[in-house]
Amino acid sequence: MASNKALEESLEILKGAKIDESIDMEAPEFKDFAKEMVDYIANYLENIRERRVLPEVSPGYLRPIIPDEAPIKPESWQAVMSDIERVIMPGVTHWHSPKFHAYFPTGNSYPAIVADMLSGAIACIGFSWIASPACTELEVVMLDWLGKMLDLPEEFLACSGGRGGGVIQGTASEATLVALLGAKAKKLQEVKKEHPDWEDSVILSKLVAYTSAQAHSSVERAGLLGGVRFRLVEPDENFQMRGEALEEAIKRDIEDGLIPFYAVVTLGTTSACTFDRLDECGPVGNRYGLWVHIDAAYAGSAFICPEYRHLMRGIETADSFNFNPHKWLLVNFDCSAMWLKDPTWLVNAFNVDPLYLKHEMQGSAPDYRHWQIPLGRRFRALKLWFVLRLYGIENLQAHIRRHCGFAKQFEGLVLKDPRFEIVAKVQMGLVCFRLKESNELNEQLLKSINSRGNVHMVPSKINGKYFLRMAVCSRFTVSEDMEYTWNEVKAATEETLANNKH
Ligand SMILES: *Cc1c(COP(=O)(O)O)cnc(C)c1O
Repeated sequence: MASNKALEESLEILKGAKIDESIDMEAPEFKDFAKEMVDYIANYLENIRERRVLPEVSPGYLRPIIPDEAPIKPESWQAVMSDIERVIMPGVTHWHSPKFHAYFPTGNSYPAIVADMLSGAIACIGFSWIASPACTELEVVMLDWLGKMLDLPEEFLACSGGRGGGVIQGTASEATLVALLGAKAKKLQEVKKEHPDWEDSVILSKLVAYTSAQAHSSVERAGLLGGVRFRLVEPDENFQMRGEALEEAIKRDIEDGLIPFYAVVTLGTTSACTFDRLDECGPVGNRYGLWVHIDAAYAGSAFICPEYRHLMRGIETADSFNFNPHKWLLVNFDCSAMWLKDPTWLVNAFNVDPLYLKHEMQGSAPDYRHWQIPLGRRFRALKLWFVLRLYGIENLQAHIRRHCGFAKQFEGLVLKDPRFEIVAKVQMGLVCFRLKESNELNEQLLKSINSRGNVHMVPSKINGKYFLRMAVCSRFTVSEDMEYTWNEVKAATEETLANNKH
């Protein structure tokens, strides 16, 4: 019989295996390998400014320099180590170089790297409390620590004894979607109470969400994924969404028979780091029964410094708040902190609860699987714990303040040159600037800067105006780096202007 034959074959394999012939890497070898890697990492990071920030490889560079197939026999770890410089590094964009000014920063620090090693060793999947109690419990407490550091209202904190609490999502995009789904479930229930005869599909087709035209693309995408329409509200001349404009949009939709249910307010837009007026938009959202979600992905880290908290005035009106410690708080990706005043809407919306996931302690601690989209989750609270303890609030504040100071320094250099203008108020670690010339010339300028390869920036465009973004990203940045970057901009400007003389 076929099944007997398979069984015999399996037993045969077991007989062949000798006790002393391990198929795994053994501990002594792991220790050597890992120690070598720690040395490599420290050397890489300490000397990162010597590397060309942008790689010079062309698409498809990698395939020809490694074998077409995986090895049959194991290789040595030394062989793997020696391929890092040959295969990987030529194709790395060095995000932690002080010469990297593109996008926004992404976090990186030694404590976070070490914590990720431990997370990799424990390698639990913390979807419920019993699946690894420390994973859930440390996350609950870390989100309280962090919430207190930002001076979030009590209602968001688990330690307040209310319903509220925090969770680590993978990304801000997920937080926006999760909040939208919670808001959708909540509004559906409210409307059904009022109109028991309305079908779900009818109600869902009337739902409408709001955000600024300056919001991150992931907000609009949350609408697509969640199957609801988003209304993009025009910001004012300072690129901030205002309460009046939001209210007008809501009123118009109500008149048209639609059901407003969700608003995303951005604190620190990606384009130009501008701040929607939460103090105006929040109360409007509350008045019309909308779920107010705050996307502070980048700028939220700055709220650990009291002097920036005026930018989150109105925070008490929010239903959920999110920012990325993995952007500006020295925690390696992925770690997106989200707080909810009342997570029961999510828990109810996402609860499926099959038998194999049930446990006796259900209800006494959060089962984070109900707070997120995937089932599986890493032990991410460890890196927060390590970073918060090994830096201390003081040094994290110093990190934010230094970056904001560098941006101010760069702004000063730009303003001294009459050929340039500043596009948006410099409030954090981002400077938006342009030549007082055509978009085309500014596009050429950026191309020239990036093709010189010494510093890296990306552009943005608001109301048809193209500009360059200089984001302070690296924890290794010093004042001289700002001068270096400005000199690169000036050299590229000479090139660009010379090319356009004829
Ligand atoms: C970076 C950013 C996002 C996206 O963050 P992810 O964590 O990558 O999803 C969303 N909103 C704003 C304002 C951002 O700056």
